[in-house]
Amino acid sequence: MAQVYYDKDANQEVLKGKTVAVLGYGSQGHAHAQNLKDSEVSVVVGLHQGSRSASVAKEDGFEVLPVSEAVAKSDVVMVLLPDTAQPSVYKDSIAPNLRPGMALAFAHGFAVHYHQIEPPADVDVFMVAPKSPGHIVRRLYTQGKGTPGLLAVHNDATGSAREVGMAYASAIGCGRAGVIETTFQEETETDLFGEQAVLCGGVTELMKAGFETLVEAGYQPEIAYFECLNEMKLIVDLIYEGGLSWMRYSISDTAEYGDMVAGPRVIGDESRAAMKVLLKEVQDGTFAKDWILENQVGRPRMKAWRKREASQKLEEVGADLRDMMPWLESKKAPKQ
Ligand code: NDP
Ligand code: MG
Ligand code: MG
Repeated sequence: MAQVYYDKDANQEVLKGKTVAVLGYGSQGHAHAQNLKDSEVSVVVGLHQGSRSASVAKEDGFEVLPVSEAVAKSDVVMVLLPDTAQPSVYKDSIAPNLRPGMALAFAHGFAVHYHQIEPPADVDVFMVAPKSPGHIVRRLYTQGKGTPGLLAVHNDATGSAREVGMAYASAIGCGRAGVIETTFQEETETDLFGEQAVLCGGVTELMKAGFETLVEAGYQPEIAYFECLNEMKLIVDLIYEGGLSWMRYSISDTAEYGDMVAGPRVIGDESRAAMKVLLKEVQDGTFAKDWILENQVGRPRMKAWRKREASQKLEEVGADLRDMMPWLESKKAPKQ
């Protein structure tokens, strides 16, 4: 059984008198900064010149500084920049301002695990990774709840890296829900595998394949959309609440029998073999290398793919259907 820690295992007092620099004010950054502030931790926000989010951070009442000044002024530095931007910001603005005994923290292990950032030995390095998007991290905190989180210590220079990390996790609300101890390696590899094979890559291709099969067979796209995309949320909500058994208890016996006979035919040996390959490419650094290279050349494959994905039929049908449901807080991704 994994070791799980809660607020009772944390001592937020160790953050008193310290200043935390939250670098970045995006999805995670705004949530960490605001939750820390509400937990009475002193926070400054570090952003680059011309940052779009700087005005938002200022409006939310934060002191916003260039990254180098924020680091120089703080004791704990939480790096909440895009993973691909972290290495160059680290080299130019973070590393030159680190002092022995400071703590450098991350919410994902990518840059450290794949050696894009190699912090000095005299600095504590830990990770607090909330297991949800930043907007939920903030929302649950304001409701008196919290997001489950992961805690990992990569380097314990002071002897108190774990204590500071756990205090941080508690101050952003993770200690209310449970904090599981892990390593940078385990967090990075499972996070990448999960989003590729299941949560993002797996789920979207499964939905697309189902939708296209029905539409190609002559069924109305609106009905195909409801069956293969919209209802996914309802099923996942049931799984979230009570596992597969609760979901299966709630659906009809016919749906449950279909689940039993058809599921393993859709996700069979071929898909499981593909998952093993994906995991291996995560573990041996092939995926990381590919993603770093794609960034170095300006993301040509990703830009083209985003365009293709945004213009597919399924997205048009979905937008029209969401307009029919005004109670939905319908969202639209900005044009890239
Ligand atoms: P976002 O893309 O939402 O936000 C990035 C922030 O960094 C923005 O404020 C952006 O400013 C700023 N920024 C971008 N480039 C630079 C730069 N060169 N120098 C200084 N600031 C810069 O990132 P996320 O919150 O999604 O991700 C942050 C970290 O959290 C990553 O390590 C990620 O893996 C991790 N994480 C993210 C989760 C999520 O739900 N999103 C979940 C768990 C972990 P600007 O306004 O100019 O764009
Ligand atoms: Mg991830
Ligand atoms: Mg049905």
